[in-house]
Amino acid sequence: MVILRTTGPVWLRSRAFRAGELAVVSCLLFWGFVEAAPDTDTPRRPDPSQTLPPPPPAQERDDTDRIAPEITAPRRPEPAPPASPPLQAPPAVRTTDHTAYIELGRVAAAANLRGKWDGERRRLILSNGALRMEFEGESRAVSFDGVRIFLGEAIQSRGSALYLSTIDYQTAVRPLLFPEAAPPPGGPVRTIVLDPGHGGRDPGARSAVLGIEEKDMTLDVALRLRTLLEARGYRVILTRRDDRYVSLERRARIANMARADLFISIHFNAVDNASVAGAETFVLTPRHHRSTGQGSRRPEDVETHPGNHNDHWNALLGFYVQRQLLHDTGAADRGVKRARFSVLREVESPAVLVEAGYLSNSAEARRIANPAYRQQLAVSLARGVEHYRRTVNRVLQ
Ligand SMILES: [Zn+2]
Repeated sequence: MVILRTTGPVWLRSRAFRAGELAVVSCLLFWGFVEAAPDTDTPRRPDPSQTLPPPPPAQERDDTDRIAPEITAPRRPEPAPPASPPLQAPPAVRTTDHTAYIELGRVAAAANLRGKWDGERRRLILSNGALRMEFEGESRAVSFDGVRIFLGEAIQSRGSALYLSTIDYQTAVRPLLFPEAAPPPGGPVRTIVLDPGHGGRDPGARSAVLGIEEKDMTLDVALRLRTLLEARGYRVILTRRDDRYVSLERRARIANMARADLFISIHFNAVDNASVAGAETFVLTPRHHRSTGQGSRRPEDVETHPGNHNDHWNALLGFYVQRQLLHDTGAADRGVKRARFSVLREVESPAVLVEAGYLSNSAEARRIANPAYRQQLAVSLARGVEHYRRTVNRVLQ
């Protein structure tokens, strides 16, 4: 369980500021988009066999009040068209707040994926035999190799085409399709900081039925994971090794002082609804986007935190960890989610916060109370780290 601390001064959150908020967000979004560095992907040649539907005629795309027919912000001169389709070319549509979108057919072409369109469910499946992505119109989640990944903006659907926000493309989809699109921060993964959630006077979540507390479960998993990672040659540092209180600021400082290559915060969750169960993995919300639990935009969404320098690698780490947890434990998939938790904001290395199960669900709490299950969780996390390390090494070559 994590208590989210809201950032930003109170006046920023006042209603009076809301009018200007959109303008600021709009400008930043626009310039953030056009100033993006030239794409470093190596776009692959479009697959001629793809069966994507053609994009709808232009007039179909601005048939609702949510879609602005024209780009209203100033344009910069466009560079000469490159030989192959760049993935950050001007988008086909913009919403009234200037969020930029990319048509998914272009993503499919660049990644050499075949598309299958299910018009009834407004669902597009992109696959190439080795991987499979599912996008659904108006949904804020996509499925990548069976793992739910939450986006900042819902997929837009116009005619028989789906559109993904450019920021979601850059921070959620592109990392998985093109890990090499951003250089790994630092070198190979050597130092890993493990952060057992809570401790001391802060017990975290509890299972009233079993009498177990989150702080003990997280420490136990972290100690098991340390043993596994050290056996694989990593240098492992814990933010706490016993039952003591450690502030969130200090946890991030420990990771930054150690020059961590990776940071994993371990938690268990609890909610009022006792039927909720499963594993979820949080990564830091990218700039300009809403966190998963956040319905509308807030002024502080435009802030950048140290962790945002790793948006690309955070997404990969979150995906590997979540996929491995689901695969090994059979836990329900609550997805890779986004939040601006304190440790995710402040840690300078790629970082995830894992909510490995719900103590408020009696069946899941019983599993968590079992040391063999906690060992399984540690093994899964170690495997997720190994996937990540292999990808980093491949990109570094
Ligand atoms: Zn917690």
